Amino acid sequence: MPLDIVPTVCPHDCPSACALEVERIDGRRLGRVRGAGSQSYTRGVVCAKVARYAERQHHPGRLSQPLRRIGEKGAGLNAFRPVSWDAALDEVAEALTRAVQRHGSETVWPYYYAGTMGLVQRDSINRLRHVMRYSREDLTICSALSDAGWLAGVGAKRGVDGREIAKSDLIVVWGGNPVSTQVNVMTHIATARRERGARLIVVDPYRTATAERADLHLAPLPGTDGALACAVMHVLFKEGYADRAYMMRYTDDPEGLEAHLATRDPTWAAGITGLSQDEIVGFARLYGRAKRSYIRVGYGFSRSRNGSAQLFAVSCLPAVTGAWAHEGGGALYSNLGLVAIDHTLIEGLDRLDPSIRMLDQSRIGPVLTGDPRDLGNGPPVTALFVQNTNPMVVAPESRLVHHGFARSDLFACVHEQFMTETAAMADIVLPATTFLEHDDIYLGGAHTYLQLGRAVLPPYAECRSNHDVINGLAERLGARHPGFVMSAIELIDRTLQLSGLPNVESFPHGGRLDCCPSFATGHFLDGFPQTDKRFHFRPDWQAIGPEYARLPAFPDHVEAIDDGDPERPFRLVAAPSRSFLNTSFNNTPSSVAREGRPTALVHPEVLAGLRLADGDRVRIGNQRGSLVVRARGASGMQKRVVIVEGLWPNHAFEEGIGINLLTSADPGLPRGGAVFHDTSVWLRPA
Ligand code: SF4
Repeated sequence: MPLDIVPTVCPHDCPSACALEVERIDGRRLGRVRGAGSQSYTRGVVCAKVARYAERQHHPGRLSQPLRRIGEKGAGLNAFRPVSWDAALDEVAEALTRAVQRHGSETVWPYYYAGTMGLVQRDSINRLRHVMRYSREDLTICSALSDAGWLAGVGAKRGVDGREIAKSDLIVVWGGNPVSTQVNVMTHIATARRERGARLIVVDPYRTATAERADLHLAPLPGTDGALACAVMHVLFKEGYADRAYMMRYTDDPEGLEAHLATRDPTWAAGITGLSQDEIVGFARLYGRAKRSYIRVGYGFSRSRNGSAQLFAVSCLPAVTGAWAHEGGGALYSNLGLVAIDHTLIEGLDRLDPSIRMLDQSRIGPVLTGDPRDLGNGPPVTALFVQNTNPMVVAPESRLVHHGFARSDLFACVHEQFMTETAAMADIVLPATTFLEHDDIYLGGAHTYLQLGRAVLPPYAECRSNHDVINGLAERLGARHPGFVMSAIELIDRTLQLSGLPNVESFPHGGRLDCCPSFATGHFLDGFPQTDKRFHFRPDWQAIGPEYARLPAFPDHVEAIDDGDPERPFRLVAAPSRSFLNTSFNNTPSSVAREGRPTALVHPEVLAGLRLADGDRVRIGNQRGSLVVRARGASGMQKRVVIVEGLWPNHAFEEGIGINLLTSADPGLPRGGAVFHDTSVWLRPA
């Protein structure tokens, strides 16, 4: 059995963007998948779900041919019949054209997200959007809140190289669970602990697998991390840990900050966070004593209405102690802004008309059900073309999303790898390639590499890549743009040249280009990427988003969260599970076996008060509805906190609708963002 090992890149929605080495059997089948040892961030490690990728690649449920729906929406594969590619693409093009003739071009909403993080296969849909003047999509669902918070202080989406964690004396994992969601962080933490005796602090509302490994775990109430960060800074100033010389040189208003924080003491923060004063002071002293202190900022605490303010407050800590200036010190949220890629050709930005309406992807439920706050005076959305996402499960306010997709006047085409619950609502379903079957180029949120991933297997059955389908539709719609007549690799090659980077032929062997900046730039010693080159303790929120008025002048706790009432006393966090990665792996047998079934983690005393035991059914509800899951007692969190890890498919729940039934489509401050961890609920025995 001929077997070779070929390099590629993990495309999934995960900051690690691991460099992979995959076994190819007979040139057609996937064997084992390993992390590339030679890529210095991946260092040979990948998560279990991707190590078992053959399960997903050769899953019997892979879509193999284009399908036209002939039965009920939502009924699944049996409601579809195969059609040829030509017939399917003709039908989609005709439906989009008819919709435009009736309502204008904004009635069509190409809808996508990060099912692949490859720039060509993810973003080519925008080329069609802009050339055809279809509605724009505001990509808020994951990072709008966290981006806003990071940009407020630092000024650009980059931070200290993740490999420097290994040189740290204190690592703070704040609002993330890397053991489950980006395992490579733990590789570098393990090195720091082994070689330097570094300590690990985890800040997370519940005892995650990462928190289990920490020297100190702080579990504030969801949405209160900003208060914790302010009280830590209060102690840093009060007890002499603030580096005033650093602040004078590199920050905008240290005196203003110190005066502002005078009342944000541990007593104040304890009342908001639910932590003890001792916990807060102890954390502040540990942080203040270590100059090589590295904060790895996760996406968790940003999923609140006040998430940008929380993340901003956390990003201020290394500016107070001057940790940014030290090797192994500083913080990282994401490096996706590190490499300046020219997206014009891939996304057709030369054809973007900013007067065309923008619809918020997180509000797909309200959009599809005609909410005037979203549609204004514009036409209804009557045609959707979906790639790389599964909004029937992942978007907030599921009931509205489901009603929207069920509309008889909505045409939907979904290009997918599996018959997801979104695909099952489509009129036409098109089979998509996986990353192993197409070419693409990848940035990494956690590291500094730009990586080229070439196709290593032939397309399964009749599957086509996103880029090829976009080009096929463009041809039928009469859309003209140079990107529509290029192959994916030609598009990559030209994009690299336009970006001033090595082209495909001169790209480093193995497809990995390390774009790590100099130490001075990486640590902002030549200035922060703000107009005045200083870190901003006093951010210009107005420049970041329209809903700036409720955000404070300095880092603070912002009381915008859904903090419950006597009817809904609990705070629900819909956290990511180890095995699913949104919904990308929630149908592979080993992932489902490991996760078991939808489960609520509930404080043991609360569980006892409800007269429930582990494994009993519990109903969770709020004003948007209710659902039943199994309960499990979990200590290491406050009594008001309830955790449901996912994302499970809707059909895994007794009543056929999943956890996002309960989450809100309210936009976070100041420029939108989904608020998945900001949900008040009640609990009852089911
Ligand atoms: S850790 Fe993230 S990037 Fe690495 S293999 Fe797993 S999903 Fe992919």
